[in-house]
Amino acid sequence: MSYTEEVYERVVKQNPGEPEFHQAVKEVLDSLKVVIDRNEELYRKLSILERLVEPERIISFRVPWVDDNGVVQINKGYRVQFNSAIGPYKGALRFHPTVNQGILKFLGFEQIFKNSLTGLPIGGGKGGSNFDPKGKSDREVMAFCQSFMTELCKYIGADTDVPAGDIGVGGREIGFLFGQYKRIRGLYEGVLTGKGLTYGGSLIRTQATGYGVVYITDEILKAHGDSFEGKTVVVTGSGNVAIYAVEKATQLGAKVVSVNDSNGYVYDPNGIDIAVLKDIKEVKRGRIKEYAERVPGSTYTEGTGSWTIKCDIYLPCATQNELPLEGAKALVANGCKYVSEGANMPTTLEATGYLQENGVVFMPGKAANAGGVATSALEMSQNSMRLSWSAEEVDAKLHDIMKNIFRKVDDAAKRYDMEGNYVVGANIAGFEKVVEAMIAQGIC
Ligand code: NDP
Repeated sequence: MSYTEEVYERVVKQNPGEPEFHQAVKEVLDSLKVVIDRNEELYRKLSILERLVEPERIISFRVPWVDDNGVVQINKGYRVQFNSAIGPYKGALRFHPTVNQGILKFLGFEQIFKNSLTGLPIGGGKGGSNFDPKGKSDREVMAFCQSFMTELCKYIGADTDVPAGDIGVGGREIGFLFGQYKRIRGLYEGVLTGKGLTYGGSLIRTQATGYGVVYITDEILKAHGDSFEGKTVVVTGSGNVAIYAVEKATQLGAKVVSVNDSNGYVYDPNGIDIAVLKDIKEVKRGRIKEYAERVPGSTYTEGTGSWTIKCDIYLPCATQNELPLEGAKALVANGCKYVSEGANMPTTLEATGYLQENGVVFMPGKAANAGGVATSALEMSQNSMRLSWSAEEVDAKLHDIMKNIFRKVDDAAKRYDMEGNYVVGANIAGFEKVVEAMIAQGIC
């Protein structure tokens, strides 16, 4: 049995009931096999892979809060501090009923390689809670955030661990969390990113992940002698990542014909009206079906399945494992040429394999959605220097970072004779820097 297979078996055995974590580890270890084989003796001697798959620390805690009816509610809170070889832990917080330790370990593990790809000095982490902000009043969300931070603040700091926002954690939640951190620790520091512009946030952070997905996809298109101009695009999700992917793809001349949420999807043959989308999701916190009620000519369909819509480019920007094999088959059958993951691991392993085998150019999330964390790191730099860059400056840096990520991923795939396999390229390029730092720092 190869070293990578041995470590994968060990992960499955030692981390029962965590299928998403197993899936993320499998994808990475399969990709790294070519690198590991060349250095097997050294890596085995140093137990590099065993250390890589084991979080440095997991903090798990109770989050008590009082709802609007005066009833005490209890949620679970976590922070997974996965790997700090190349910098302080950096990775978002997710508030969603499906959150558990296994989900956060998968996300934290992915984050190690993503952060490395950005070229910035940030290690991998992730955290969150099974709290569902949907349908809660602002006061309830504040009560929850304050209680969550009362515990978390013991373990984070501007040079230790800097969380940001993910599913269910937007500007409102970051504001409440920041306020409580400041109150307890007495420190006005860049401990969170995605902050509001009046208290240390960075311009373009809100847009960064969605814009970044489109910037890197644009690089892929250019490498294939193609462009966004005149392309039909399907985006999934209608949250932070999806909204700004729609906006940037539209600015580059594409027509985005569909977005969805967990209830269903809309189809708009005239191209998604971004102002209406933002009003529904960012202002009213409504459901996507309201789009079809407001925009003539558009339709709403319950359930998943927007992959049946004919498109050239598919950008899954909702959640893990949203694109199954059935969806990949429909995309291929309808002539889709490019898939870039805005979400983390939205494509199942079977679906990824099918897309690649059938000539679809596929960019994995750890490269495609790295623009968010990269801009978070730019926010950290601005906080340390106590200054603010203009939107143009941040956007230009983001654009450069995404171009560099594409170059690194493309180059790593070529170096290992797997040109065009961006899954392998992203994992190898991310791993190379981390492993070098781990070896240099000794057994820790
Ligand atoms: P949001 O909470 O802003 O939006 C999530 C969107 O996905 C919502 O429209 C939500 O719909 C939808 N969704 C959630 N679950 C499902 C499901 N099972 N089926 C269909 N749609 C679903 O989150 P973000 O936009 O921030 O995050 C989206 C993805 O991008 C996540 O995978 C996240 O980890 C990843 N990501 C985010 C970054 C960021 O900067 N925000 C950075 C890098 C990656 P509903 O309202 O119905 O739940």
